[in-house]
Amino acid sequence: MARLVMKFGGTSVGDIDRIRNVARHVKREANAGNEVAVVVSAMAGRTNELVAWTREASPLHDAREYDTVVAAGEQISSGLLAISIQALGVNARSWQGWQIPIHTNNAHGAARIEEIDAALLRERIASGQVAVVSGFQGIGPDNRIATLGRGGSDTSAVALAAALEADRCDIYTDVDGVYTTDPRMEPRAGRLDKISFEEMLEMASLGAKVLQVRSVELAMVHGVRTFVRSSFDDPDNVPVGTGNQPVGTLICDEEEIVEKQVVTGIAYTKDEAQISLRRVPDKPGVSAAIFGPLADNHINVDMIVQSVSEDGSRTDMTFTVAEGDVTRASDILEKQKDEIAFEVLQSDTGLSKVSVIGIGMRSHAGVASTAFSALAGKGINIRAITTSEIKFSLLIDADYTELAVRTLHSVYDLNRG
Ligand code: ASP
Ligand code: MG
Repeated sequence: MARLVMKFGGTSVGDIDRIRNVARHVKREANAGNEVAVVVSAMAGRTNELVAWTREASPLHDAREYDTVVAAGEQISSGLLAISIQALGVNARSWQGWQIPIHTNNAHGAARIEEIDAALLRERIASGQVAVVSGFQGIGPDNRIATLGRGGSDTSAVALAAALEADRCDIYTDVDGVYTTDPRMEPRAGRLDKISFEEMLEMASLGAKVLQVRSVELAMVHGVRTFVRSSFDDPDNVPVGTGNQPVGTLICDEEEIVEKQVVTGIAYTKDEAQISLRRVPDKPGVSAAIFGPLADNHINVDMIVQSVSEDGSRTDMTFTVAEGDVTRASDILEKQKDEIAFEVLQSDTGLSKVSVIGIGMRSHAGVASTAFSALAGKGINIRAITTSEIKFSLLIDADYTELAVRTLHSVYDLNRG
């Protein structure tokens, strides 16, 4: 017997048939004697529709009313799922964020969960009643509904699992786990049985789309064992894999991982842009003068490379931003031209960032140089490099993304089948 949080995304509750299928997954776990809380997203496409309506009503709208509207999608799916579970003869009740309550901060539209008062929910699930909780929403200090930002229901699920001190948080989704890389890019990508919190955080931050980054952060901080699995499995005949465990990927503490690979996965993001400020005087404060105004305008700067001229008086500052931000970033910097005192600003779009991730890098030398030679062998030019303890990222021309991903996937022995 265990205490479980089960989370189902928009595709998994996309129509009534699918919701009834989800109800069967829930029934299986409840009948096995587990205490169960379920977190649901809105039915696929519903949140987009609600967001569009708020814009149609008025392009500039009050964030509190936006939250009132968009949180409604989850209210519908939680009610429908509770009905479907009850129809299978299992005791269930729906819960909105404010009823639990899930307390958030006041950042309507992009709120953060501050505290979950899980006492009541705990009592109910311990008594054998399944709790069906609306993801993506909570209640702000102003006593109004607040939403967590798009894709936020993963975060709701992990936060609830932490508050309930659940044994596991099962994320049911439209893929059957976390793969060594995007299988659409490399068909020989393999499903990982386990991945550490740190690696998953890097994978998610660097482009893997399985889980919202914030949910992985929370799972890591609270040590919530999180299991990614498919909602399309037959609920009464779940396929089993390694060790007779259900098929999926467990995100857990690295201590729990026996077979450690040097490289665990390859992630990528497209639509990167590069900005170079040429011949900036190299003196204290110049980085602050460049990156301060960008930060003030909420522009995310990623890879930063500084190369100082031979006499040390001038420096070239090169960095990346999302392609969608490049015009705005260039405008902001041009306005600061006198203060920063750069000679020219150059920008380039159509770039990709390919990243290699693995906790094994901590204890192995030469991991990155293997990538450099492999890409050189394919004639791929590396424009910038950044490294950290368990990953490195390479900036390349976007046309070479697939070739780079497949080359790296193969050179680090990740190919399966
Ligand atoms: N329904 C919300 C969205 O579409 C939250 C979620 O799906 O995670 O963003
Ligand atoms: Mg989602």
